[in-house]
Amino acid sequence: MSNKRPNILFIMSDDHGANAISAYKSRLASVFETPNIDRIANEGALFKNVYCTNAICTPSRATILTGQYSHINGVKTLADKMDPDSDTYPKMMQKNGYQTAVVGKWHLHCEVKGFDYYDVLPGQGFYFDPYFLDKDTDWGAIESIHMRERGKRHTGYVTDIITEKCLDWLEKRDKERPFMLMCHHKAPHDDFEYHPRYEHILDTVEIPEPDSLWEDKSHRSIGSRDYGTTVSDKNKRRSAVKRMSRQDYPTGPLDIKGLDEKERTKAAYQKYLKDYLRTVKGVDDSVGRLLDYLEQEGILDDTLIIYTSDQGMFLGEHDYIDKRWIYDEALQMPFLARYPKEIKAGSVIDDIISNIDFAPTLLDYAGLDKTDGMQGRSFRSNAAGNQPADWPNRIYYRYWMHMAHHDNPAHYGIRTKDFKLIFFYGLPLDSNGVLPELTPAGWELYDLRNDPRELNNVYNDPGYREIVRELKKQLVEMKKDAGDEDEEYPEVLKRQLL
Ligand code: CA
Repeated sequence: MSNKRPNILFIMSDDHGANAISAYKSRLASVFETPNIDRIANEGALFKNVYCTNAICTPSRATILTGQYSHINGVKTLADKMDPDSDTYPKMMQKNGYQTAVVGKWHLHCEVKGFDYYDVLPGQGFYFDPYFLDKDTDWGAIESIHMRERGKRHTGYVTDIITEKCLDWLEKRDKERPFMLMCHHKAPHDDFEYHPRYEHILDTVEIPEPDSLWEDKSHRSIGSRDYGTTVSDKNKRRSAVKRMSRQDYPTGPLDIKGLDEKERTKAAYQKYLKDYLRTVKGVDDSVGRLLDYLEQEGILDDTLIIYTSDQGMFLGEHDYIDKRWIYDEALQMPFLARYPKEIKAGSVIDDIISNIDFAPTLLDYAGLDKTDGMQGRSFRSNAAGNQPADWPNRIYYRYWMHMAHHDNPAHYGIRTKDFKLIFFYGLPLDSNGVLPELTPAGWELYDLRNDPRELNNVYNDPGYREIVRELKKQLVEMKKDAGDEDEEYPEVLKRQLL
């Protein structure tokens, strides 16, 4: 390992599923390529089993910074505020000689701390002519970080502006000290407002459908099967058909006049995917500009470059859009890393890693130890192709329901290389001033060895009785080890051993 501390360029987009990165060779790779993101893997490593511990934006971001599960850092849902004084890896790097910066999506509902420079979007921000919050921000005067019209307004397209701000900061850096730059794109979060220069890509292309767009969900437990945001209008509350056929939809309304249910689903799928991929294209071009800059500066090989997303994304699989579930499309974070001094070009890493491991890993590359409070561990050695003998082969996951917002039921579970066990424990569905409705409790088990797409819940199959027993034991152990004790959720404990 090199003694010189590397620069770190951490590029994170919002809601970019691995299926929409051609290096992952999904069904979409035949019609859509991300050559610049792929370059990171071609000259570095492609990680195939990186997972988030809670598949939703704000909580995943808090976990990445703190190295802690949501129930420990307190950011369980989109509504929770991170303590701005928590221990985070950028703060530790800043204290130890790194120049630190974050540009773009922050989404943590608290003051930005730990950075020499920041320029972040208030809340979700806008795709066009966005506002940014910088060091001049009076944080005490910001009533709600959800308000997008706060700070300084800029003209242009958000992905381009974020890229240019990153390049400007790099240009002005102190060349004698290492840097850690977080380039956090808003794209491709919905609604997918692409730049007009991408309007006609994919015009003549038919986007391949996943077979599971037409999945019969009767195999599922009652805990999940009637919930989640669909492509089709099967979910009357939230669906791509419903949202995209609104007259004010930003990229133009989907015309569903005269279409039957299947035709509506097909049309919504095509529009959803095309708008999404056009938005991703902007991110890929941004990555290209950043790589080119590092190359021109002669520091490409001195910089650890990471590309990831805060969680995965359903792109029609299981007739879902959005994220939140433990199912793989949302659970998996794309993760590609380039650092030729340690990471072999073209390597594929299939070790099981989760976002609690990011902070310890980045600190490790910077020559720093993680704090006692950080729950993950460094995968620097795994990235170099050496999995430590005691490396865990499983992750613990938990999604907390956000009242009156989306309708994915709360659940927790365990994913190993071979299996996934999920418990939908049931919580009030809504609290809009009416008596709360409970979502039903239910268990699911997937045998990923022969059912990697999770199309056949085998929880009730007698052939899996022993495996269920063993995984339940492991799940309870992992939950306890993670410090997730549920004292404030007595109803969960009651149902836990159903
Ligand atoms: Ca997200």
